[in-house]
Amino acid sequence: MTGQTAMIAERCSDCGGTMVCQVNQFIQRDDLWWDAEISCDTCGMAGCEDSSPGRPPEDVRKALLTAHGPARLRVVGPMPSLVPALKVLREVSGASLPDARKQVDELRRGGLVGTLTEMEFLRLRLRRLGVPVDVEFGTD
Ligand SMILES: [Zn+2]
Repeated sequence: MTGQTAMIAERCSDCGGTMVCQVNQFIQRDDLWWDAEISCDTCGMAGCEDSSPGRPPEDVRKALLTAHGPARLRVVGPMPSLVPALKVLREVSGASLPDARKQVDELRRGGLVGTLTEMEFLRLRLRRLGVPVDVEFGTD
């Protein structure tokens, strides 16, 4: 399973101590998911805070990007038509057609940047429709 985990320190709502929020982003049943589990060492409070498909909140993404660094998705071969790429980007991100076009432009130039799980998810979808893309690490 493709996925990434990061820790965010938060203030415990029960005892005021420091609690740890473990956030996960993963691919499950052909969808992009994220969830968050909280636990407090001081008072023992624990639970599952959230679990949803789709793009996680910005603080969760930020924690994943800080912990693992960004990944970049790039077109690595000839792309006879933009239609499959536009279709996937619109499905996955709910982007409007102009926004999807911008994203395809980024794919073909510098690459689209996001968490590894997000880029891997897009790669699987794009490859399935024959779009030649690959994920690479780094921020050059
Ligand atoms: Zn606590």
